[in-house]
Amino acid sequence: MCGKIGVLILAAMAWNIVIAGGGFAGANTARELEKLLPRQSSRLILVNDVNFLLYTPLLPEAAAGTLEPRHVVTPLRDILHRTNLRLGVVDGHDRENRQVTIRSHTGETEQVDYDHLILAPGSISRFLPVPGLTEHAVGFKSLADAIYLRNHVIETLEMANATEDRALRDELLTYVFVGGGYAGLEALAELQDFAADAMQHYPKARLHGMRWVLIEAAARVLPEIDAELADYAVDELRGRGIDVKMETTLEEVTATTARLSTGEVLPTRTLVWTAGVAPHPALKNLGVPLDERGKVKVDSRMAVEGLDGVWALGDAAAVPNPVGGDCPPTAQHAVRQAPVVAANVAAAIGIGEPREFTYKGGAAFVNLGRYKAVGKIGDRTFRGFKAWWMARSYHMSQIPGLPRKIRAVIDWTASLPFSRDLSEVGSIGRPGVLSPDRYARGGSHRPVQGDPPAAGKDRAEAEARPDTD
Ligand SMILES: Cc1cc2nc3c(=O)[nH]c(=O)nc-3n(C[C@H](O)[C@H](O)[C@H](O)COP(=O)(O)OP(=O)(O)OC[C@H]3O[C@@H](n4cnc5c(N)ncnc54)[C@H](O)[C@@H]3O)c2cc1C
Repeated sequence: MCGKIGVLILAAMAWNIVIAGGGFAGANTARELEKLLPRQSSRLILVNDVNFLLYTPLLPEAAAGTLEPRHVVTPLRDILHRTNLRLGVVDGHDRENRQVTIRSHTGETEQVDYDHLILAPGSISRFLPVPGLTEHAVGFKSLADAIYLRNHVIETLEMANATEDRALRDELLTYVFVGGGYAGLEALAELQDFAADAMQHYPKARLHGMRWVLIEAAARVLPEIDAELADYAVDELRGRGIDVKMETTLEEVTATTARLSTGEVLPTRTLVWTAGVAPHPALKNLGVPLDERGKVKVDSRMAVEGLDGVWALGDAAAVPNPVGGDCPPTAQHAVRQAPVVAANVAAAIGIGEPREFTYKGGAAFVNLGRYKAVGKIGDRTFRGFKAWWMARSYHMSQIPGLPRKIRAVIDWTASLPFSRDLSEVGSIGRPGVLSPDRYARGGSHRPVQGDPPAAGKDRAEAEARPDTD
């Protein structure tokens, strides 16, 4: 009886901890809090727009087909054992009453009390007012982007192989990536490697030749990592014939061209926009102090300036970097910030000691295709298969959840003896209109006239496709 009363009293005293964002930062913070805080005295709520954690460092491999897209995500319910996962977004914050507004996918809203609020909504692609960008470019940040790009590249190869029009082939076989951060550089490297292998099946396209171009506004790529390793990666790409244009910007995009600041006009039907990230815009509605770039202002314990009980980390926060400035927007940093925030929340509740963020980084890898990578550990640099193997071992240790680790290893092993899979499965998840006309026109999945219009390059592509006009 006494025991039951004790549990009831503890439950009545339970701390409400709300985490906004289930990426590297948010999900890992929840996992750490599950370990640190007693079950009876803490209620953990994690709000995220999807029910999985996307392991972005392997997204380029999903785009290149080395890994099954589903194997680069971990279901949050598999790795969180007592955190209440809520699908939706945190889009309001009443500081006075210590409440946040959670808006679910159905549009319903709910006010939830918090004692501690942890903000980890990550970042979005940084947009610049380049004419034609919204209509004709695609990003590279989500699983949908990766799946789309893989199918798009296969489709351009198929179309280039089928047409006799040289100008159209030029457009189809020129692939332009804007922005030399992790996302752009790795996505370009993986897809180019994939397309170079696939070319053996497309003799006409192979004869014509492909052109892969990386455009970067700054004087160097990969600002997230050491300059020596970044130069190493560029040497590797140039050695493969990839045209890396530094100190060059994109001025205009149309369905078939990209105009650069040098005056050059590239014929292309593929423009991938990966020109950096900006903190998630939802932060603007949350009444927290933001710096000039829109990142949440925090100290080295990740406590939000002037707001007791509110914390922020990951891409969304300006966490002081022990080596100067603030931390770059990388998964490496987000993952290491998570246990520090969790320890500080626990310490604020009276469990353990507060901690400061002291991680200085030491190892970095850049994936450049199947069995190709560059890497640096301490002062030593690595390239080729050795670097790829080391990067794989590192990712194995980092992918959350044993089942996902095993699935990824199986994918890598299974791909060893086989050539690239060239099936273009862009129809997955895009069922067409149920109509006999669709079949009468000779296709089972391709869009036909009367289907809802596609967006961006999808539309440009649909317009270019003779059988869909
Ligand atoms: C293609 C690609 C490759 C990369 N490769 C590497 C690499 O090799 N190494 C490396 O270290 N880093 C890499 N990065 C960077 C890395 O992905 C980010 O730094 C990391 O994801 C940041 O973690 P986060 O938790 O802050 O944000 P995210 O992982 O973006 O997670 C934020 C989550 O919060 C959700 N959310 C947004 N708004 C709200 C809201 N209002 N309420 C609730 N939830 C919300 C988002 O939908 C998302 O699920 C790569 C990024 C990309 C795109």
